[in-house]
Amino acid sequence: MGEKETKDAISSAYEAFGHWSKLTGSERSNRLRSWYNLLMEHKEELGELITLEQGKPLKEAIGEVGYGASFLEFFAEEAKRVYGDIIPSTLPDRRVLVLKQPVGVVAAITPWNFPLAMITRKVGPALACGCTVVIKPSEFTPLTALAAAELALQSGIPPGVLNVVMGDAPKIGDTLLESTQVRKITFTGSTAVGKKLMAGAAETVKKVSLELGGNAPCIVFDDADLEVALKGTLATKFRNSGQTCVCANRILVQEGIYEKFTSAFSNAVKDLKVGNGFSEGVVQGPLINEAAVQKVESFVQDAISKGAKVLAGGKRHSLGFTFYEPTIIGDVKNDMLIARQEVFGPVAPIIRFKTEEEAIRIANDTNAGLAAYFFTNSIKRSWRVSEALEYGIVGVNEG
Ligand code: ADP
Repeated sequence: MGEKETKDAISSAYEAFGHWSKLTGSERSNRLRSWYNLLMEHKEELGELITLEQGKPLKEAIGEVGYGASFLEFFAEEAKRVYGDIIPSTLPDRRVLVLKQPVGVVAAITPWNFPLAMITRKVGPALACGCTVVIKPSEFTPLTALAAAELALQSGIPPGVLNVVMGDAPKIGDTLLESTQVRKITFTGSTAVGKKLMAGAAETVKKVSLELGGNAPCIVFDDADLEVALKGTLATKFRNSGQTCVCANRILVQEGIYEKFTSAFSNAVKDLKVGNGFSEGVVQGPLINEAAVQKVESFVQDAISKGAKVLAGGKRHSLGFTFYEPTIIGDVKNDMLIARQEVFGPVAPIIRFKTEEEAIRIANDTNAGLAAYFFTNSIKRSWRVSEALEYGIVGVNEG
């Protein structure tokens, strides 16, 4: 699809807005709730579809369906509670009221790493408050989006309220940006594309919500519980084979626990079973495509050439295709490529540090502020470090 189909989708959403926005919150709530129910009824099939087109292991994929559906459940409940405000006036004979009203047609552009959840997270709140939506899913995972949209129709969400376009991303994106009927853009994806969309949205002064790249630090302090730190770091680094924006991108380990942690971490990583997401026991699927593997290879190569050491993995998996070995690299410095940019793959670079101040300085030395994690048994440090980390999400003693 390209410009014409996108324009058609916008018109259809614009037209549907007329009646969808006039329903009561409770009526929209019922339809969202039915959509939630249908997604849950088809949890297994949707999970299989996600594994087929995205590659994550089936258990993780089915988990995503539950997670993705939960946004519809939550916003179905919220649809009835779009309250306004009454604000004291400066004049005695006036009253100031705030009504919350839907902005209109929303364009939602989503990535491939959570083919369902990134859609429901945007569409749930939009539909709940009366907006209609044009979704542009990633070209790598369009089928889950179509299946979800079909279930939306079956649940009584009228045609036109939810529209899916897929194909030529820049063409579709430009058409969405240029349209004066599209009043809001919501995007999850790369910082580079996010910047383009933000600039493009200025032309028609659209509202913009962006969730862009991360460079999450995961800090293990000397006083951490080793088991808890291992479990959390494994979870935050290797979920979806490292292909999430909140995945740990840099593991910072204090010198007192460095040897113990890295050796236990390397052993644990060697046990992660790589393979077909439908096979029993597999916890690491393939990377999304060849370009992703080449990016991982080039980052690992850069680190090794600058003095870092491979502690586990470090190369393509013997299974071939786009499988890559779960990898740990020690003696990484914060100026290496792998610590500056998102690796978006199953590679854990470990940086050694001495003091808390040093760890915070390294952690904050990036232009991405999405998620951070740290492990400590000190209550004082928990509060101090969470507030010192310049990140929107901070996980304390969990991944
Ligand atoms: P990622 O690195 O997560 O693949 P992208 O930003 O490339 O990040 O992709 C996220 C989404 O943005 C996908 O749906 C993709 O098709 C879309 N996209 C890519 N380029 C553009 C563009 N120029 N305009 C609009 N959408 C785009």
